[in-house]
Amino acid sequence: MARKPWVDEDACISCGLCINNLPDVFQFADNGKAECYDPEGASEQEIQSEAIDACPVLCIHWKD
Ligand code: SF4
Repeated sequence: MARKPWVDEDACISCGLCINNLPDVFQFADNGKAECYDPEGASEQEIQSEAIDACPVLCIHWKD
């Protein structure tokens, strides 16, 4: 099973970068913070480089 990225909502600043980079993986939740809605919307490598490593506050983590 694919690993799932998880957003620390308390740290997310709602900048939208992960959603812009990977719209098939992340979306804004009702509270205005990013959430992962489809962990299989991109490869793990893309999620790592385009979201986890790119997030300005580094609040996206792998949930095992
Ligand atoms: Fe939130 Fe990080 Fe995504 Fe920006 S890149 S919306 S701070 S999770």
